[in-house]
Amino acid sequence: MKRILVTGGAGFIGSAVCRHLVEDLGREVVNVDALTYAANLASVAPIADSGRYHFEQADVRDRAAIDDIFARYQPDAVMHLAAESHVDRSISGAQVFLETNILGTAVMLEALRAYRDNLPAARADLLRFLHISTDEVYGSLGPTGLFTEETPYDPSSPYSASKAASDHIVQAWVRTYGLQCVISNCSNNYGPYHFPEKLIPLVILNALHDKPLPVYGDGSNVRDWLYVDDHARALVMILEKGRAGEKYNIGGRNERTNLQVVERICDLMDRMAPKTHSHRDLISFVTDRPGHDLRYAIDATKTETEIGWRAEENFDSGIEKTVRWYLDNREWWEPIRNKVYAGERLGVLAK
Ligand code: NAD
Repeated sequence: MKRILVTGGAGFIGSAVCRHLVEDLGREVVNVDALTYAANLASVAPIADSGRYHFEQADVRDRAAIDDIFARYQPDAVMHLAAESHVDRSISGAQVFLETNILGTAVMLEALRAYRDNLPAARADLLRFLHISTDEVYGSLGPTGLFTEETPYDPSSPYSASKAASDHIVQAWVRTYGLQCVISNCSNNYGPYHFPEKLIPLVILNALHDKPLPVYGDGSNVRDWLYVDDHARALVMILEKGRAGEKYNIGGRNERTNLQVVERICDLMDRMAPKTHSHRDLISFVTDRPGHDLRYAIDATKTETEIGWRAEENFDSGIEKTVRWYLDNREWWEPIRNKVYAGERLGVLAK
């Protein structure tokens, strides 16, 4: 697979995938991104001047634009990451989640099908599509147990319902039209270049600015944390080795309560950017998110054994790198904090 079309490549995970493909693997990438509020071309600046990197501003809902991109670039594979990704925003406004995540995925698959049907048989047989999805499609776990690839879907938020629908659409296009698609479902990602509406970068920047650190409910909700560069490696390996019509779970084996995550960041900030008081003093418990799933935890055995991938970063090493990156890369996040999103609460329903 020489030339890979990546949708959502100006976002958090997509940009890590683009950088990994171009910098580490020497592949050619076509980054297709509509540049919504969540995009940042500064995240692909390290590869922007490479002859192996191409950028196309286009919306995955725009069939004509996507057809044109397939025709011009003739990719060998597609990695589909473009999506509306923030649960809190989906609670306040679900429509764009349904349009981009569900219809946009269907448009990508239909464009892929038309493109495949015009390829010579030898190339058509090798054409691959990886759909990047979330463990949130499985709903909530109790205190024990893990999500496997066989766990029934039971999404709780408009975001996770839209991702669940898109997963079903991908499976249907495999069975009905014989497309070579694979689905990956991963846990919460964190790391550099993360848009500061999500918990970890929000807490780092609020701590830096001496602002309250919001913890939803009592902070006992549990997430499994996956370092973004580990995820990018997993995705390329699944694209290459995964079997069509199969799903692969990706997780970091790093379960933490939200409160543990926030406290860890506070302790790192006390060391790396000390103030006269402890950053833990800034922790503020706020009204819980409606429909907040209690616990997500991934069994990644299938990906580890069949694909041969394993997370390299543990939470302690990954979070330290992440805090350091935000302290050292003010020019990346300052324009976002000043002009796009200053840290206000999202996803609260009017009483
Ligand atoms: P992100 O919000 O950081 O980036 C999404 C990107 O998609 C942005 O660059 C945006 O401009 C682009 N985009 C949005 N709508 C588009 C459209 N209609 N057409 C073209 N481009 C569009 O998201 P992320 O965190 O990088 O997530 C990437 C993928 O991984 C998503 O599909 C998400 O559901 C999935 N995922 C994310 C996580 C996580 O922890 N971040 C976990 C599991 C799964």
